[in-house]
Amino acid sequence: YFVEPHSFTENELTIVGDDVHHIVNVMRAREGEEIIVSDGAGRSARAKLVYLSAKEVRAEVIEMLQEERELPIRVTIGQGLPKGEKLEWILQKGTELGAYSFFPFSSERTIVKLDAKKEAKKLERWRKIVKEAAEQSHRAVLPELLSPVSFREMLQADQSYTHCAIAYEKEGSTTIHQVLEEMTVGDSLLVLVGPEGGFSPEEVAQAESKGFLTVSLGPRILRTETASQYVLACASYQFER
Ligand code: SAM
Repeated sequence: YFVEPHSFTENELTIVGDDVHHIVNVMRAREGEEIIVSDGAGRSARAKLVYLSAKEVRAEVIEMLQEERELPIRVTIGQGLPKGEKLEWILQKGTELGAYSFFPFSSERTIVKLDAKKEAKKLERWRKIVKEAAEQSHRAVLPELLSPVSFREMLQADQSYTHCAIAYEKEGSTTIHQVLEEMTVGDSLLVLVGPEGGFSPEEVAQAESKGFLTVSLGPRILRTETASQYVLACASYQFER
């Protein structure tokens, strides 16, 4: 479970909010049982439940966990909003594969249109999917899901990534492997993946003018939902093998 950082010390922790309902009513946990808890910012512990109520769960920390669960580089997936439920799949699998954050955007060839009301509801659902996937894969860091922006806003956002790339199916581009080979532990990569219809040449040129490197994800054209997973798997191969 991810808990609020302020309630997490070396000796004990307190869980409040929606997780209490999940632990007490869904998991039907009892005093004396052990759970694994993360604060979402990199600290994890094995803890014993000592008090459960409808509003609060308290646990004694048995040991802080040192296992390394996070990719040594921070990978942010800039994802062109896809149709239907594909983004849910991308968020769930991308979290399992170690994405650091997700940054959805709409671009020229985006088909779905989100109004403010729809967007707020979707964001809530998407963040829940990320949280559950992070818990299930025992992540120590809860990936951040940023609010969707336009492609232009995305390029202008104040970004402090060490490496920025746009995935574009063009022969002769630098490969994602070459980019990853240049990176070292602690670096951060933002990679933009287009929606189903891909990016327009103008969008690629705009990104390049902002310093993004055009990268290839190999000789085959991948579906939009596969592309980000490919990048994460390559990062795992580069840094975790
Ligand atoms: N525009 C293409 C078309 O209609 O044939 C396909 C777009 S592809 C389904 C969606 C996105 O995945 C692309 O915009 C790109 O970001 C990424 N992508 C898929 N395969 C790729 C590859 N081999 N190299 C680089 N990017 C790729």
